[in-house]
Order: sequence, then structure tokens, then C-alpha cells
Amino acid sequence: MRSVSPEYSPVNGKTYSLFGKSDSTSGYYEEIRMLADKILVLNPDRRDLIDNIRKFSSKKRTLKKYLEIKDSSNLMAGILNLIDPHLKKYTENTDEHLRTLPFSKLWDRRLATTREQYHLYMLEIELTNRLLVSEFLKADKKIALMPYCLQDFSVKCKSEKNAFDYQCKHCSAKCFQNHASTILNTNHIEPYIWMGGDMKQLAKYTAMERRSFGVLGIACIPELTWGMRNCCKNNIPVVGIPLNANRCVRWFGEFFPNSIDLTELERLVTSKS
Ligand code: SF4
Repeated sequence: MRSVSPEYSPVNGKTYSLFGKSDSTSGYYEEIRMLADKILVLNPDRRDLIDNIRKFSSKKRTLKKYLEIKDSSNLMAGILNLIDPHLKKYTENTDEHLRTLPFSKLWDRRLATTREQYHLYMLEIELTNRLLVSEFLKADKKIALMPYCLQDFSVKCKSEKNAFDYQCKHCSAKCFQNHASTILNTNHIEPYIWMGGDMKQLAKYTAMERRSFGVLGIACIPELTWGMRNCCKNNIPVVGIPLNANRCVRWFGEFFPNSIDLTELERLVTSKS
């Protein structure tokens, strides 16, 4: 277990925050698990459910309309109406962000993610974790890709390039990369700060050595969802933990300190299911 934990105070994102109105993210994780449990009772085929969510989540206008439909025979309308009241407290800033997003950036599907899409992505991440965590944990070579923006910006980062990409040198007790790296190393997952390492090439080399390969992603919700989908397309077992908020230069034009729920990371990598 971790000896010292970094300060865990609420952070607000450009569009979402997993703290909602609470001083902890445990409420978010309890809620997303409860929602996934309920939805799986009615739709037990996880793979089929994930495929449907992926297909429908691209139809922004239809998703909005579905929130008006109370027809329980419509799968996506039922899911959206179930999850929206629980998850909307985590995405309160999204509408304002979309109102002020310049026309030239509307093509960027990450930046232009709608509230309904965020809610479906949250569910998709949870369902994908459940579907693939055993296969991921069994992989011979497991890597974790962490974003640069999770580091402690109050110190000069001492991370160094090592094999695939940069690795943390544990210089700051306040740094989330430091604590996440320790949890990952303990569980035989190689932690990297992703600065451009070629994951497809690494997967190819690992396959040539006849070893299986798995990826754990940490990123903001839209980025993580698309990254996980990409891994799935390439038959790489993938799991993910969302950043607690979206606070990097892409969203704000500058970096603000960010965090992840380390308890949830530990729970995921020690998962038995
Ligand atoms: S603890 Fe690691 S990631 Fe954080 S600033 Fe130091 S070297 Fe960089």
C-alpha cells in the first residue's frame, strides 16, 4: 500500500469533473458501477452492449432526442434516461464550453464532445474495464500510458527516457505520476509518461516474441475512450482510468494540476473479475 498520498482536493475541468459537488471521487465510481450493474441485468452481453454504445454515441442529435423518449423498448433511450440524472452533476461545464467553442474547433471530436456523449463514454469505460481486465492482467507484457499533465508542476520533473518512453524518477511525494507508477510497478505493469512512444510498434515486437500485450490508459474521458477503442480495434486488451478532470493545455490553453483516483487505480489492477 502507499505510504504517503498526494493532496486530494477537488479539481474543476473545462467540461467535466469526477468530484461533482463532492470533495471525493468515490461517489462517481460507486455511481458508475451501480449504473453498469443495472444496465447489465437487462443487457447481459457486455460486448454487444459496448458495440451498441459505440455505434450510437456518435449520433449527437439523436442522443439529445432520445432523452425525450420514455419508451423502455428503445435500448439507447432507456440507457440515456437512466444515466443522465446520475451523471449530469459531473458534466456541468460542458454546455458552456460548447457554446463558446470556436467554429473552427467544432471538427475536433474530443473538444466537441456533448454531455450525452460524456455520459455514454463514462459507461463505456466502465464496461470495457469489466470485459477486458482479466485478459489485460494475464498479458505477458503490460504497459501503462500516463499523460504528461498528471505530473507535479511545482518541481522540475526528473523523468527519463527508458526503453519505450519516459519513466518517473520519484522526485516528488506530491506527484500523482509518482504514486501511480509505484502502484503499477508493484503490480508488474510498466508505467510510462507517454511522450510519443510508438505503441503499435511495441505491440508488434511483443507479438513477434510470442508474448501477449496489454495496455492501461490514463487520460481525460474523450481521449481515453478513443484510445481504448483504438486498442480494441487492434485486438489489444485495454483498461482505463479517467483523469479526474480535463485541465490540460488542449482545453484551457495552459496546464493546471490534475489528479486521478489512486484507490480506483489500485482496485483495477488488483481486480479479480
Ligand atoms: S515524481 Fe516523477 S513524474 Fe513527478 S515530477 Fe518527479 S520525476 Fe516527474
